Amino acid sequence: MAFVVAIDGPAGSGKGTVTKLVSEKLGLVNIDTGAMYRCVALKALRNDIKETDLEKLEELLENISIDMKREDGKLVVILDGEDVSEEIRTPKVDSCVAKYAAVGIVRSKITPLQRKMGETGKVIMEGRDIGTVVFPNANVKIYLDASVEERANRRYKQDVEKGINITYAEVLEEIKQRHKLETEREIAPLVQAEDAEYVDSSNLTIEQVVEKIIDIIKEKGYEC
Ligand code: C5P
Repeated sequence: MAFVVAIDGPAGSGKGTVTKLVSEKLGLVNIDTGAMYRCVALKALRNDIKETDLEKLEELLENISIDMKREDGKLVVILDGEDVSEEIRTPKVDSCVAKYAAVGIVRSKITPLQRKMGETGKVIMEGRDIGTVVFPNANVKIYLDASVEERANRRYKQDVEKGINITYAEVLEEIKQRHKLETEREIAPLVQAEDAEYVDSSNLTIEQVVEKIIDIIKEKGYEC
């Protein structure tokens, strides 16, 4: 039987890092749903298709193939046969992905793919609407949050490590913009599910967050 852990929260809350570690410790399959929206945004950017051009976007969605696999613990994202794992995480994609993710036809294409990925196994799925829309009956729901400054700080450090030329102020602005788009959109906005556990990671180490989440998952009856 399927066991689904839904982890939702804003950009920079630590979902990616924490979900990966929890999945390794508990033997859950880790599904990064944001990567799928990032693929749509990247393909649209490459083809010069705006989020408002629904006709072209529809055609793009009809012909898109997205595959994800783990290699040596790292997530490899394949868009139409090409490894785009790095390219989907550039500031260019960061700054426009939320616009594409707000479009109804994009979500109607991606949401069923995510449900299919989660249906059969023991999964931990991270995103924005997993506990509210994709798996409203998930066994465990967590809303992972952190202050906007802390989230920007983490994302800034990640960008610097990757050698990306960007300032903290630019990252902070981008994180704020994205948050506004994600929480105010009409379809599947980022919101804490009523039955989700709220975890604030602002003043916790990664290990502390991982421990807290593992405790919550075990309390809900998950046995490794
Ligand atoms: O988590 P990540 O930052 O990689 O997600 C990229 C974007 O995809 C988010 O900014 C959000 O707009 C969108 N997203 C979404 N629903 C999800 C996961 C991500 O709308 N379940």
